[in-house]
Amino acid sequence: MHENRIYLSAPHMSGYEEAFVQKAFATNWISTVGPQLNAFEQAVAEYAGAAGAVALNSGTSAIHLALRLADVQAGDTVFCSSLTFVASANPIVQLGATPVFIDSDPESWNMSIVALEEALYDAYRAGVLPKAVVVVNLYGQSADYDPILELCNRYGVSVIEDAAESLGAHYKGKASGTLGRYGIYSFNGNKIITTSGGGMLVSDRLEDLEKARFWATQAREQCLHYEHKESGYNYRMSNVLAGVGQGQLKVLDDRVARKREIFESYRQALGKLDGFIFMPECSYGRSTRWLTTLTIDPEACGLTALDFVHALAELHIESRPVWKPLHAQPLFEGCRYYRHGQTGTSDRLYHTGLCLPSGTGMTDADMERVIESMKTIYKRRRSEIKSGR
Ligand SMILES: *Cc1c(COP(=O)(O)O)cnc(C)c1O
Repeated sequence: MHENRIYLSAPHMSGYEEAFVQKAFATNWISTVGPQLNAFEQAVAEYAGAAGAVALNSGTSAIHLALRLADVQAGDTVFCSSLTFVASANPIVQLGATPVFIDSDPESWNMSIVALEEALYDAYRAGVLPKAVVVVNLYGQSADYDPILELCNRYGVSVIEDAAESLGAHYKGKASGTLGRYGIYSFNGNKIITTSGGGMLVSDRLEDLEKARFWATQAREQCLHYEHKESGYNYRMSNVLAGVGQGQLKVLDDRVARKREIFESYRQALGKLDGFIFMPECSYGRSTRWLTTLTIDPEACGLTALDFVHALAELHIESRPVWKPLHAQPLFEGCRYYRHGQTGTSDRLYHTGLCLPSGTGMTDADMERVIESMKTIYKRRRSEIKSGR
């Protein structure tokens, strides 16, 4: 580890966290029940404008429970955005269901409406409608929910909103995570706020949330002895970590503002380089710009996104390609995939996409270092091309 290494999105404590954690220690609420947990759930629900929330040990657990609430069982089908982190789809397979992957729209980078419509229509005709659609909000930007909900309502299919990357974003004035029947957030270390690790399930269906809370605590029936009728999980968040979350939530709006500022700085400094196109922001909402992402056309630039990843790594700067689409993962070989148009979107975004360091804890000097490094790598290649190499 290099002492001056710049990370993609490192945890960024506000200074408010320790007081909440101290309270948990002082009152001995160290485990998976306690006032921090209740307060954190309530605060997130209020922030999002959801009726309720259940704090869990990860965003992945939240997806798993949302799928169970949507009655996903072995042999069922579940649609899922293809351009996403594997955690969006792992719980589908772990429930014994089969994922069908849906391509991205080039404007939003999120679920393509035309591909979804085609997939739903085919499923309807074949008599095997999916139990749910997992819609991902990528890199802090909301998917286009009006047409998605219209389609899913038409076929009676539940929408699970994977808002792991978009806490703090909006869609037509509504908080990201509250558009589907169930929404999930992640507080993993790289997300916009963190509890060191954790997640949250939000919904307006309070009975369903009660059920999720029950499953998350080993599905223990209300008896003195240990009585079990259903299979549950050990998925609850620790009260200590909920304290970290309370402190982090206080600065969420500042973090969104800073993430957006970071994106604008990059765009202003690098947006005119040949072949560089920054991720668009759709007019229907406000992105958090969780990660600054762009595509680099290698024909125009002379370098691929991956060339930049490697060259930045040599300068102790962490960057990443855009998510490799799940339909192209060996893990999901053989799964069905609905492409957007003739050529598709997500494969192109994967091959040309770059995520730049976007941690809100970065100093202006760190930002400058990344920008200057990008320019240097670019110019070096330009002069090589000029001299015919
Ligand atoms: C981070 C992430 C998750 C998983 O969240 P964890 O808290 O790490 O389990 C799920 N979906 C997406 C899109 C993510 O980025």
